[in-house]
Amino acid sequence: MFHKNYNPMSKYIINKIQIFIFLFIFILPINAQENNTLNNKINDEILNIGKKVIEWRHDIHKNPELSNREFKTAKKIADHLISLGIDVQTEVAHTGVVGILKGKRTGKVVALRADMDALPVTERNNLPYKSNVISKYNNRNTGVMHACGHDTHVAILMGVAEILSNNNDFSGTVKFIFQPAEEGAPEGETGGALQMIKEGVLKNPDVDAIFGLHISSGLHVGKINYRPKGIMAASQRFVIDVVGKQSHGSSPWLGIDPILVSSQIISGIQTIVSRNSELTKQAAVISIGSIHSGIRFNIIPESLQMIGTIRTLDIEMKELIRRRMNEIVTGIASAYGAKASITITDGASITYNDPDLTKMMLPTLESIALKENVILSDAVTGAEDFSYFQDEIPGLYYFLGGTPLSVPEDEAPSHHTPDFFVSDKSMLLGVKTMTGLALDYLKINQL
Ligand SMILES: [Zn+2]
Ligand SMILES: [Zn+2]
Repeated sequence: MFHKNYNPMSKYIINKIQIFIFLFIFILPINAQENNTLNNKINDEILNIGKKVIEWRHDIHKNPELSNREFKTAKKIADHLISLGIDVQTEVAHTGVVGILKGKRTGKVVALRADMDALPVTERNNLPYKSNVISKYNNRNTGVMHACGHDTHVAILMGVAEILSNNNDFSGTVKFIFQPAEEGAPEGETGGALQMIKEGVLKNPDVDAIFGLHISSGLHVGKINYRPKGIMAASQRFVIDVVGKQSHGSSPWLGIDPILVSSQIISGIQTIVSRNSELTKQAAVISIGSIHSGIRFNIIPESLQMIGTIRTLDIEMKELIRRRMNEIVTGIASAYGAKASITITDGASITYNDPDLTKMMLPTLESIALKENVILSDAVTGAEDFSYFQDEIPGLYYFLGGTPLSVPEDEAPSHHTPDFFVSDKSMLLGVKTMTGLALDYLKINQL
């Protein structure tokens, strides 16, 4: 009698299935656990260092410094790294500090980045560590405040440096990058991530991957937002000059009206997003922020200038918008007999999370913060100069919840405002995730 179980082929398949089940139950989980190197000892050390991290944060918050002026902050960081026995470079991109910590064995090089600068904002929070600092910005006196939360980034990374220097039994090297001027160097100065790269921060030893975080007002403490590919937009600034022919307002047929032409250009360039950009892939924004022309009610002026910004989350879309802006601006102007030119200047690039690296490190974030707290988020049309590092090497940038649970997420004050506030309680998860990402990356990619 034929019984299907006696079919040798079936037997072969069943054997295969058994092997697969065996692999699945006994072998694969060992691999999956690669991403969980925060052992109890390190976890306890992170808990113990918590109070110190908060003290550092309060001190930095109380003494905020504007972009490219982070002198005291840099000294505090450098003193700390030196006390830990970490190799330190100072004055990188003006006030940046770089620490290099070698593990016990050779391996890959991973960088962790924290930005250091504060903003020309007068703090309105009533905190024991409130900033009362006044400084000059654009020749005007202004309050200075850590209104973007970079004080937490510095304190977190100082904590990570201490933990890793006490636990250097890893294969590879960790580079701590304390970066000045993320908010932008003062007019006429260089600075920020791009300047650090120009000065060789990703070289010698060459960095294989970089991690960065941003504290987030509007996201509860304990949560993390991440996104593979574009998470923050590229920012570009554009200037459009339109030249017509001046005439009396009563006889426009004698001139070429640059104001009318520019109104057509404004409508025309909005069709790039609505009619040329593949919006199912990514969002894009084109905004005009300022228009200047004319002086009197009955004179049609000769020229007009408008400035604006382009935000994109996809490199192809960025190129498409650049090309179409040129075509539409010059094409419309010439159709009306005017002349127009456009200059587009690149700001920050797309904060682009390498998909493979994100996939590799997601289990680390999930095992530390718990899976339900690690949330795939929408992209943000704001820009971040961490993107310059990601232009060079694979990087992962994520948002760390900063809003106390007692405040509804949608009522949290925005970044860059006088009421901006993030809780001290947010930083523990920051230290844990940055430590975990560094250790797990080096372990998974052992040479
Ligand atoms: Zn900011
Ligand atoms: Zn920021």
